[in-house]
Amino acid sequence: MNSRQPARKVFNAVRILPLISFWLSCAFLPAAAQSCGAQGVAVQVLGSGGPELQDKRAMSSYLVWESGQARVLIDAGGGSALRFGESGAQMAQLDVILFTHFHVDHSGDFASLIKSSWFEDRKRPLPIYGPPGSGFMPSTTEFASDFFGAKHGVYRYLSELFTPGEEGSYKIQPHIVVASSTPVVMLRTDELVISAVRVLHGAIPSLAWRIEAGGKVIVFSGDTNGEGGGLTRLAMNADLFVAHNAVPEGATGLERRLHMPPSVIGQIAGDAHVKHLVLSHRMLRTLGNENQTQLEISKRYSGPVTFANDLDCFPVK
Ligand SMILES: [Zn+2]
Repeated sequence: MNSRQPARKVFNAVRILPLISFWLSCAFLPAAAQSCGAQGVAVQVLGSGGPELQDKRAMSSYLVWESGQARVLIDAGGGSALRFGESGAQMAQLDVILFTHFHVDHSGDFASLIKSSWFEDRKRPLPIYGPPGSGFMPSTTEFASDFFGAKHGVYRYLSELFTPGEEGSYKIQPHIVVASSTPVVMLRTDELVISAVRVLHGAIPSLAWRIEAGGKVIVFSGDTNGEGGGLTRLAMNADLFVAHNAVPEGATGLERRLHMPPSVIGQIAGDAHVKHLVLSHRMLRTLGNENQTQLEISKRYSGPVTFANDLDCFPVK
């Protein structure tokens, strides 16, 4: 018996040591998981795709990081909630959510993100800014209440988040942004200045957003056909311009009425003198056309162009 005990102790030590090292590595994982925007200002692409699942990308969504805090979420398309988790961000960090419009590929994961926040220690209200409604699209207020309103919300079991006066959790505060083609400041805090213009995306009420943080300027086109001049004014001298590459050059019909081809993206980027152009909202009809896209853009814009992929991080210089 005695001769077997030391052997058993060695056996136990061999089993326990890897467990201890695994526990230690887990203890330090949270800091390692968030790697974008630890210093300065950065944009992280949560979703670089469009509505098609076969593009193997999450749908449209972006985070603006500043000094390690995920301050602004722009859109929350399908698949972006998973990418949000992978980015290391927490819902409790967000100062604001901005919606460009309420197509599914820009808003489908909203409820998942809000539900996730239930498990975080968020106390301050969460403002949400987005477009007004139309005959067949909800306003930003309706969009939030359609999910979480106490009477008719699909997820009314979470209505505490939305009911004024209820205690026990933070509150969602939706705001309808009525914008024109002239940029107007919609939100100003100690850390952020956020402006918007109305953009044309067929008949869908849609916005483009400009975010000034840490001395940097970032502009998100959202979905638009690029007409009207507002996007160029909004993007003027931006350090980073995220534009949506949803249709190829030569697109016609409905595609063209909804989206801007590369030549229009290049014209806007050039006229606005942006310092870096990032192309996102990549779809099956534009994936594989990168050379042609780049060529059309380079005729009108001479700055750097980058094609975005999910979870790419762009420090803003
Ligand atoms: Zn879209």
